[in-house]
Amino acid sequence: MQVVNDNGCSWINDLNPRRNINSLLSNEECNWLIIGAGYTGLSAARKLGQLHPNQKIILVDAQLAGEGASGRNSGYLVDTTLNDGFTSNKELENYKKKTDIYSLGIDTVKKFIKEHQVDCDWNESGKYFASSKIEDKKILDNFSNTLSKLGFEHSILGNEELSEQLGTNFYNIGLYTKGGILLHPGKLVRAMVDALPSNVFLYENSCLLNWSKNKDLILCNFKNGIIKTKKIIFAINGFMKSLGIKSNYNFPITLTASMTRRLSDEEFKSIGEPKEWGVLPVRPMGATIRMTKDRRILIRNTAEVLSPFGMSNSILQKRSLNQKIGIKKRFPQLPNDIINTSWSGIVSRTRNSSQIFEKIDSNIFAAGCYNGSGIGVGTLFGEQIALKAINENTNEIKTIEARNKPTWLPPQPFLNFGIKTRLIYERLKAKTEI
Ligand SMILES: Cc1cc2nc3c(=O)[nH]c(=O)nc-3n(C[C@H](O)[C@H](O)[C@H](O)COP(=O)(O)OP(=O)(O)OC[C@H]3O[C@@H](n4cnc5c(N)ncnc54)[C@H](O)[C@@H]3O)c2cc1C
Repeated sequence: MQVVNDNGCSWINDLNPRRNINSLLSNEECNWLIIGAGYTGLSAARKLGQLHPNQKIILVDAQLAGEGASGRNSGYLVDTTLNDGFTSNKELENYKKKTDIYSLGIDTVKKFIKEHQVDCDWNESGKYFASSKIEDKKILDNFSNTLSKLGFEHSILGNEELSEQLGTNFYNIGLYTKGGILLHPGKLVRAMVDALPSNVFLYENSCLLNWSKNKDLILCNFKNGIIKTKKIIFAINGFMKSLGIKSNYNFPITLTASMTRRLSDEEFKSIGEPKEWGVLPVRPMGATIRMTKDRRILIRNTAEVLSPFGMSNSILQKRSLNQKIGIKKRFPQLPNDIINTSWSGIVSRTRNSSQIFEKIDSNIFAAGCYNGSGIGVGTLFGEQIALKAINENTNEIKTIEARNKPTWLPPQPFLNFGIKTRLIYERLKAKTEI
């Protein structure tokens, strides 16, 4: 079991390479062990380190900290979502519970960047849900209805306004929400690595192979050492299943994304010099596409059932071709070969698009599974699972625990068959939007 990431992610490549990287090479004991150093694990470690400055906290990651999904995502810190699972949000009350969590997530990230003076290209630009298919207006009208009932400021836009604001004539109908932030995910997660308190010991490139509980002690085996701990928090998101965490409630999905080089002045002029924007698809399998602050275009238009441990270069190249087509469809005036990098990343899903936040046994906790919307929720859940683990009961925990719990999934091979069939169906429905 080894997590192998490609090295093509533009967000990560924008950052200065890190120094002082330690791997686990001996046996250790600690009060707290956190597995996974993405937004969730880093936030849990930060919180525990602040609250217990005299306790030993170990944080481990199978790869470099923050270089999993947390450094590889599309950078939408969302207040509302339209397609965050395989079912639509029909019930208003449940949808409200979800947006209450999103709102707390935004507040938690805001507080973090204020306290640590983080520059992560934060832009309160709002976001668009857009489609080229005029018949998708029905979906957006329903969504607009829900947003109005809950007081989210938004507007429905037609082709002309969308063309003017986005610089592409591709979309015929859209819904703009004022809430929602665009940011640089790599810069945000790097700031979380840099902000770790001094009593947090970080071991990277150190994959937890298996673990067991013996009375009050949890034993964790790594390739080059064993860690004995009193309490453990699993923050491994798309890898939960691989360590037997809530296996019947979540499953990993592999996403791929590509980013262009920076557009030249002339190219940027040719698309009308739009301000930074982010579009999410109306259909679940449509493309997420973003114009960054520094004039790069990001596109993500795949979601697949594959091994979470790494994608072969040949598959990645095929996905990249698909993304080249997606960009060309929207910006035919741009040159063919402007994609600079392509990468893959793992997200975790549940059947009812609810998240995992719980004590799974005494002294064993897990948080994750954000159904593709984990920037704010992961940061929130990380801090709050640490508080839950020390028996605090905050208002945030109450809000989190008021959500629907994830529902049970059928066993294999039925599960993969079901997911694959659903993805094929959704892909067909979103064919024009990829
Ligand atoms: C392409 C893409 C686009 C996305 N777009 C958005 C977006 O726009 N907005 C949004 O909110 N969310 C988005 N997401 C989802 C978001 O990135 C995740 O929800 C979020 O990063 C989850 O954070 P995390 O810390 O829980 O998990 P991760 O960042 O996945 O971190 C988990 C860590 O656990 C480590 N790990 C796994 N197994 C082991 C093991 N056995 N031993 C040790 N360590 C282990 C992994 O190496 C990894 O670093 C996107 C994801 C992807 C891949």
